[in-house]
Amino acid sequence: MVDSAVADAAADVAATNGGETPAPAPSSEAAPAVELDGSALPPPSPPTSVRDVIIIGSGPAAHTAAIYAARAERQPLMFEGMLAAGVAAGGQLTTTTEVENFPGFPGGLSGPELTDRFRAHSIAAGTEILTETVSAVDLAVRPFKVSTEWGGTYFAHALIIATGATARRLDIPGAGETGPEAYWQRGVSACAVCDGAAPTFRDKPLAVIGGGDTAMEEALFLAKYGTSVTVVHRRDELRASKVMQRRALAHPKIRVAYSAGVAAAKGDGSLLQTIVLKDLKSGATTEQPCNGLFFAVGHVPSTSFLGGQVTLDADGYVLTKPGTTRTSVDGVFAAGDVQDKQWRQAVTAAGSGCMAAMELEHYMATLGEQPLEDSAEAKPAQAETMHQ
Ligand SMILES: Cc1cc2nc3c(=O)[nH]c(=O)nc-3n(C[C@H](O)[C@H](O)[C@H](O)COP(=O)(O)OP(=O)(O)OC[C@H]3O[C@@H](n4cnc5c(N)ncnc54)[C@H](O)[C@@H]3O)c2cc1C
Repeated sequence: MVDSAVADAAADVAATNGGETPAPAPSSEAAPAVELDGSALPPPSPPTSVRDVIIIGSGPAAHTAAIYAARAERQPLMFEGMLAAGVAAGGQLTTTTEVENFPGFPGGLSGPELTDRFRAHSIAAGTEILTETVSAVDLAVRPFKVSTEWGGTYFAHALIIATGATARRLDIPGAGETGPEAYWQRGVSACAVCDGAAPTFRDKPLAVIGGGDTAMEEALFLAKYGTSVTVVHRRDELRASKVMQRRALAHPKIRVAYSAGVAAAKGDGSLLQTIVLKDLKSGATTEQPCNGLFFAVGHVPSTSFLGGQVTLDADGYVLTKPGTTRTSVDGVFAAGDVQDKQWRQAVTAAGSGCMAAMELEHYMATLGEQPLEDSAEAKPAQAETMHQ
């Protein structure tokens, strides 16, 4: 019974690793395999199916967790995603030209260069990285089961979820990434704190789209650098908390365009120069100078693959126990923007990735005291896994 269960699990796992025929599981009763020339084959290697930890994601949180877990000899397996949630492996930083606030790089460096360094560091520490997107997890079984979009199935005692979030963008002509008039990252951004201090925005008229707390924060931040900040909001009153509204509205450089939208972003072919404001009540449009347009219309956390098995908040972010990266499921940790709707910076994501790997160590020590095979809780779940 146990042997066939192990064989089933081995088959399941081997089928995922390139879809090759699974090696048979070792069995004390099996006769040694014999080659045609009569010599005995080496015994088949035991299934390497169950990893200590699988890390899902590839931004600063995932790579920091991987570096720590690898150095703790957990041989982490990372799924970095294949354009998961529309973001390249490496995460949100791959979409930005210059990162100037990550410690250790006083001259700044490009987002892709920084993420390449994260990846190289993870691999050097001993992380195995697969460029696949995780499509589903099964957290009701132990070890946990992880399925990928390409049909792979993997098992691990613990998971670190670091799938990040994506900043919502608005489909405004001229604010995209392609075409002759496309000013994304050439004046248009989704992160004022990240990009607002860049020289191109200094002493220039700027605008923020949004009406919540984030929009107010971004406007206040940008007011330090720009000559003026127009908050463009589609309703006739702001959604932000009263205190944030008061702060923003009291600032001499900030004004709000209520019941308004941005109909177009225009530039000189190189950088953003103006925006077309549309009065949503009258339909009238006006053009105003603007060298920096910032979206503050929310983020979407990448959590759909969790299938509701981990407790999320109302906006879909993974809920972690305060001051930790522990989720509602024992052995599942969450780090980075997928569980953080407040700070959302590379360095805070990296910090929580470190926490997740260190909490993982404590968790694995607990498992060591009560091995999975002997655990009353683990037995039925493991049997279930093995029979899939
Ligand atoms: C334009 C822009 C500029 C920024 N500039 C700065 C800056 O200058 N400084 C700064 O500190 N911060 C900056 N940030 C914020 C910073 O990028 C994020 O806070 C940080 O990247 C979050 O890291 P993370 O590890 O949580 O995950 P993310 O960077 O969000 O990466 C998560 C990764 O997981 C992958 N993934 C998602 N789902 C799956 C799945 N199911 N299976 C496998 N993989 C999956 C995604 O494709 C993505 O590659 C910027 C953000 C943006 C959008």
